[in-house]
Amino acid sequence: MEILDGKLVSQAVKDKLKAQTEERKKQGKKLPHLAAVLIGNNGASETYVASKVKSCSEIGFTSTLIRFPQEVTEEELLFKLNELNDDFDVDGILVQLPLPSHISEQKIIETIYPTKDVDGFHPESVGRMVQGLPAFYPATPYGILLLLEHYKIETKGKHAVVIGRSNIVGRPISIMLSKNDYPGNCTVTVCHSHTPNLAEICLQGDIIIAALGKPEFLKSNMVKPGAVVVDVGITRITDSTKKSGFSIKGDVDYDDVAPKCSYITPVPGGVGPMTIAALLMNTFKACIAKDIA
Ligand code: NAD
Repeated sequence: MEILDGKLVSQAVKDKLKAQTEERKKQGKKLPHLAAVLIGNNGASETYVASKVKSCSEIGFTSTLIRFPQEVTEEELLFKLNELNDDFDVDGILVQLPLPSHISEQKIIETIYPTKDVDGFHPESVGRMVQGLPAFYPATPYGILLLLEHYKIETKGKHAVVIGRSNIVGRPISIMLSKNDYPGNCTVTVCHSHTPNLAEICLQGDIIIAALGKPEFLKSNMVKPGAVVVDVGITRITDSTKKSGFSIKGDVDYDDVAPKCSYITPVPGGVGPMTIAALLMNTFKACIAKDIA
């Protein structure tokens, strides 16, 4: 069994982006600029945004963090997004989800210009991705592809089983793995909360993507020997032995499943860091698109 090391691969992606950014600086070209919008004080959201902003500064990107209190109105938020849309220096805009219930997530997603949609959630980005056109791929599935690519995982003709059908992970990764390219050309089965014979389907998977948000859901008796297992899940579990008061669990029972796999991602240190790497890649692409615009 080999570990798909997201920390290592994301560092390699960041090193490459850093070198490319330094080169742009030498040439007097515009440097990539990510604007991150954070609403309220959700602990997990704070952590994610902090690490995105930190990664930007590590590789020479500019970043702007815009914070709003939980009570911010939808109107105020839309006003700020329009300002960021119109700000030439800003290449990528991300609004950290989830949002307070009084704000429409869909409205927010659709307000960000597709040219700055580095999270890849805008319907135009999704539509382009489905049609195989150049697009910003949603960061988490894109990060998974980068990881599979780095380890040269064979995907052509393989049966990929995706557990979960959310717009940010399950559905897009199922489309990306079925595309006529590498990594892709898989036969994909998408499972969800109404799939009756889930264990039976998982057992057929050469590649399993677990993205359902249920800690340690995938057990070894659901996994075919030699399968590649990608664990997307991140759930905070109360843990009094930890200084933070919680530990992070994935959707895969790692100790049980790992001995049966050919490759597996750990949690933490697997898909999480790759999501950030993919977001940075998208921001870089958004920036260089302006060179030719
Ligand atoms: P979601 O709640 O939007 O979707 C979960 C999906 O799982 C749904 O489509 C649902 O039908 C399916 N599901 C739920 N219970 C199921 C069951 N018992 N059997 C089969 N399918 C079931 O979640 P999401 O936003 O896609 O996130 C999934 C997990 O991935 C969460 O733990 C989340 O924190 C994590 N996540 C991690 C990253 C990362 O960077 N590593 C990024 C995004 C999400």
